[in-house]
Order: sequence, then structure tokens, then C-alpha cells
Amino acid sequence: MAEQEIFTQLGTYDHEQIVFCNDNSTGLKAIIAIHNTVLGPGLGGTRVWNYSNEAEAINDVMRLSRGMTYKAAISGLNLGGAKAVIIGDASKIKTEALMRKFGRFVENLNGKYITAEDVNTTTRDMEYVNMETQHVVGLPESMGGGGDPSPVTAYGVYMGMKASAKNVFGSDSLSGKKIAVQGVGKVGGHLLEFLHKEGASLFISDINQDTLKHYASTLGANVVNGDEIYGLDVDVFAPCALGAVLNDANIAQLKCSIIAGAANNQLAEETVHGPALMNKGITYAPDFLINAGGLINVYQEHIGYNKETAYRQAQHIYDVTLEILKVSASEKIHTQKVAMNLAEKRISDISKLKSTY
Ligand code: NAD
Repeated sequence: MAEQEIFTQLGTYDHEQIVFCNDNSTGLKAIIAIHNTVLGPGLGGTRVWNYSNEAEAINDVMRLSRGMTYKAAISGLNLGGAKAVIIGDASKIKTEALMRKFGRFVENLNGKYITAEDVNTTTRDMEYVNMETQHVVGLPESMGGGGDPSPVTAYGVYMGMKASAKNVFGSDSLSGKKIAVQGVGKVGGHLLEFLHKEGASLFISDINQDTLKHYASTLGANVVNGDEIYGLDVDVFAPCALGAVLNDANIAQLKCSIIAGAANNQLAEETVHGPALMNKGITYAPDFLINAGGLINVYQEHIGYNKETAYRQAQHIYDVTLEILKVSASEKIHTQKVAMNLAEKRISDISKLKSTY
């Protein structure tokens, strides 16, 4: 790709820096994209993916790093947005040497970028990275880290769901409410526990039959087949598996009043499907706000891990969700856009702090 094209891409969403990391001996080919560090160092996981070409990898890392800026800003964290991708088939390329070499590239950025695990990287990989740099989070509890972030993510989603219920039904109680959860993996599973404890009536779908059986027998959840989940007559739909599920075809089927789930990038096209949900009278709790519990958890690790503080910060998602729903109703702007505006305003306000020194 020509140099000019890369700079054009950097300029489109005002990315600060992009770092290409190459090492012939380990086969490492990585790209670190730092989108914005006004609020603090850019934090975002490292994804290993077998991209079909370099342009696709660049596009992905730039899109994901920008998303991290918004997630950190809306959550009130002193963090910027960044992300890394390692190009290749995870089952073939990952070695101790490759991950450590990557760690050395992270170290060279002197803390401007902090990495963590993501798709196709594990806690073990981060332990290798940590042998070369301190700028890594998501380490196991035995190493002073925060461990699995999924319970905190689920708690944040639960808070966002309760705030949405307060806005729509006048009470934040989910007792007796019919709630459909798509994907009952790490986050979806913990979410089910919170909802069951509160007395909600649960409907679940997953491609993993064993997990479905588990939650049907332990929590009395009703199992539904695949795509049937979209058309269920429920109060809340919680996408906790895949992105882009809020598209033309699925939105046409929805009968729920609220959408509040953990999956990233739920709106297939923000500018089309955000307004589409609003026009249909469905309250959408912005995904990057209510699924920020995982980021909140690793941020705690960055400043000195404290589980109670992580949960307290995740609880704040309730207040921010309420505020966004209020502004959305009064200004007739879809909730995702309101949330993005709020994140941008925080970055702009804080950037002005540094105008005097
Ligand atoms: P996970 O892999 O543990 O769970 C995902 C579940 O979805 C699995 O049980 C899988 O079988 C199921 N699934 C896959 N395809 C499906 C389909 N077509 N229909 C129904 N179920 C399907 O992942 P997770 O950590 O629970 O994360 C869930 C979502 O939340 C992901 O989109 C992830 O990016 C997002 N997220 C997770 C965290 C976190 O802390 N783990 C934080 C923020 C966002």
C-alpha cells in the first residue's frame, strides 16, 4: 500500500500513530494502532487473525483502536484507545518467541500502548509478553492481575439493562421480565446468574448444546433454536455472542422493548440501524458503554488491582445509561450517537486542561 494511502487512513479518524512490527526470525508481523491518547495511554487487546491481505489488517486495527477510545472515554477512564493485530493463523504462528518479540515492540513504545488479550490470544500469551514489558494487563490473579474480566463485563451489562428498564417500565426491577440472551458463554452465562437471582424469566440460544443444557437444568432457562430468538415476544433482548446482529432482517422481527447485551458492534450500520431501532420504539443500550466492564477491570489492573473498585466503577454504567436515554428522548437522537457525542465531549473537555502549564 502506498504511503499516502496510509496517511489518508490515519487522517480519516484522526489516528495518532501506527506501528508496523516485523521480525523474520519469529515470523512476527504485527500492527499496533494508537488512535487517541488525550485521556491516557492507549489500551486495547492484541488479536491474532489470518487476514487475507495487509489492507484488511490495517483496516481492522484502525477500526478497533478507535472503538477503544470511545469505550474508555464514555466509561470515565483515564485511558486512550489503541489495539494491535498479529497477522497469521493463531494455531500455527503463536510461539513463546513470537509473543515475547511482540512484547519487546510494546516495550519500545514506553507505555503509550498497553496491551491485553483478545481474540485468539490467551492469558498464557500475555504472560510471555509480560516477560518483555510491564505494559500488559489481563494477567492471571496469581500474577497480581485481575483475572477473567467476564464477570465484571456481565455486571456492567446487567446495570445497563436495569437502567433501561427503569427508563422504559418506570422501575429497574427485572423480576418477572422475559429476557432473551443470545450466546451463553463467559459473559452471557454470568449475566444469566444475575438475572435468575432477580427472578427474570429466561430464554437462551447458543450453538453449544452443552451450555444450553447446563443453564436449562441449573437456572430453568427456556432453550430456543437459533434465529427464533429474534422474534420472541420478550421484554429484553441481550445479544451476547456476535456483532452486527442488529441488521434490517433481524430488526424487522424484534418484539422486545429493550436491547442490552455484551456483544461488540451490535449495530450492523450505526447510522442506519441506530435510528431504525429508535423509530421502532425499541430502547437500545449502547454496546460500547454497557460492555465496558472488562475494560474497567483491566484499567484497575493498570492502576493497582482492586476488585471492589472495579465493580463500583461498573455500577456507574447504570447512571450513564440513564443519562444517555434521557438525552436521546429529549433531543430525538439515537442512543449510540448520544453516547458517542458524550465520549467525544469528554475527550475535548479534558484536552483543554493541558492548554495551560
Ligand atoms: P464466549 O466465546 O465465551 O461466548 C460466546 C458464546 O456465543 C459462546 O457460548 C458461543 O457458543 C456462542 N455463539 C457463537 N455463535 C453463536 C450464534 N450464532 N448464536 C448463538 N450463540 C452463539 O465470549 P464472551 O467472552 O462471553 O463474549 C461474548 C461477547 O461479548 C463477544 O461479542 C465479545 O466480543 C463481547 N465482549 C466480551 C467481554 C468479556 O469480558 N469477555 C468484554 C466486552 C465485550
